Amino acid sequence: MKKRIAILGSTGSIGTQALEVVAAHPAAFSVSVLTAQSNADLLIEQAVQFRPSVVIIGNEKLRSKVDLALSPLGIKVYAGEEALASVVESDDIDMVLTALVGYSGLLPTMRAIEAGKDIALANKETLVVAGELITALARKHKVALLPVDSEHSAIFQCLVGEKQNPIEKIILTASGGPFRGKDRAFLATVTKAQALKHPNWTMGAKITIDSATLMNKGLEVIEAKWLFDLAPDQIDVVVHPQSIIHSMVQFEDGSIKAQMGLPDMRLPIQYALGYPRRLQADFPRFDFTQYPSLTFEKPDTDTFRNLPLAFEALAKGGNLPCVINAANEVAVAAFLNDEIGFLEISEVIENCAAKVSFVHNPDYADYVASDTEARRVAAELVHAIV
Ligand code: NDP
Ligand code: MG
Repeated sequence: MKKRIAILGSTGSIGTQALEVVAAHPAAFSVSVLTAQSNADLLIEQAVQFRPSVVIIGNEKLRSKVDLALSPLGIKVYAGEEALASVVESDDIDMVLTALVGYSGLLPTMRAIEAGKDIALANKETLVVAGELITALARKHKVALLPVDSEHSAIFQCLVGEKQNPIEKIILTASGGPFRGKDRAFLATVTKAQALKHPNWTMGAKITIDSATLMNKGLEVIEAKWLFDLAPDQIDVVVHPQSIIHSMVQFEDGSIKAQMGLPDMRLPIQYALGYPRRLQADFPRFDFTQYPSLTFEKPDTDTFRNLPLAFEALAKGGNLPCVINAANEVAVAAFLNDEIGFLEISEVIENCAAKVSFVHNPDYADYVASDTEARRVAAELVHAIV
């Protein structure tokens, strides 16, 4: 039986690599749904090749263009946010890959879980914003949350066969990004072109900036808390510039398991889609003799403020992770728009977190309100800088 997959965000970095995995394993997977926000041309091309039953284009203005190209093939075309959230409920889906960027992933992920679909989770922001709600919902509906993020996939792989053994701690590895070793004076001058050049991974623009500020690692700390049910002090971050060890688990006897390989997102994507099976793949193999040294160092949390800000948000809990996520999305967009400097990203987040009212036990409506409020406050803070 083929696993029938819905790919939300199929035109992005994760989405296109997921389609490479699907194309390489036609006997294992078929595609039921593809979605994009505004890249209609690529969405049409993908749909012609993979023949989903439905596609969604986020931008409603592009619907007629996509419809014209795909309805002769019998592919249904819908547009807009509500269509994206309800398409995941369809009967011909076994698994939903959430490869959307940012807060936009939250509602479709909730609806997919409520419809009983297993989730291959790339969209880490969903767990950052509402980790408690999402994990409770997944338990209630007995669906699996399979990590796609390479670090979390590494931890998940290290935990296979260890059900009865508690985790003492996990060690998330971080490449350190393009500005590792730089000081604040240097960072005050960096351009978006420099920040968009990641040393080891080619990814979407938002996560690439998050990697440069270390916010990506902060978001991953929060993601790990919810995926693996950890306390904040059970999560360590170590900078490992070669990105060969994708993360580690330490057990109560002191033994540490690591998952390794060349940095290639197709591997964790394929592991999540194929779970529990490992499928054959021709991805380039890691050769130890080509890497005489794998190095490790402490993250510089005085220079890269977003990482401690994320740890603080996790420790305080409530709506604070949701607030810093929204502030970060606004600040990163402003940086990419040349409105604020690199160091001001952290300033916007920190000041926004101090201004938005704290909600101790948020429900879904509180998350929506906190996200809206944080975006408004963050936009004002950006405006004050411009
Ligand atoms: P991209 O920016 O490359 O792709 C995002 C996808 O989502 C595109 O298909 C885009 O459509 C669509 N999209 C963008 N905005 C919206 C919106 N508001 N509503 C609906 N759809 C939208 O992102 P990545 O693939 O890099 O990242 C996706 C997720 O995976 C992120 O949460 C990221 O943190 C996570 N991740 C990514 C990794 C990577 O290697 N790239 C590694 C680990 C995690 P369109 O193309 O039309 O704009
Ligand atoms: Mg990652």
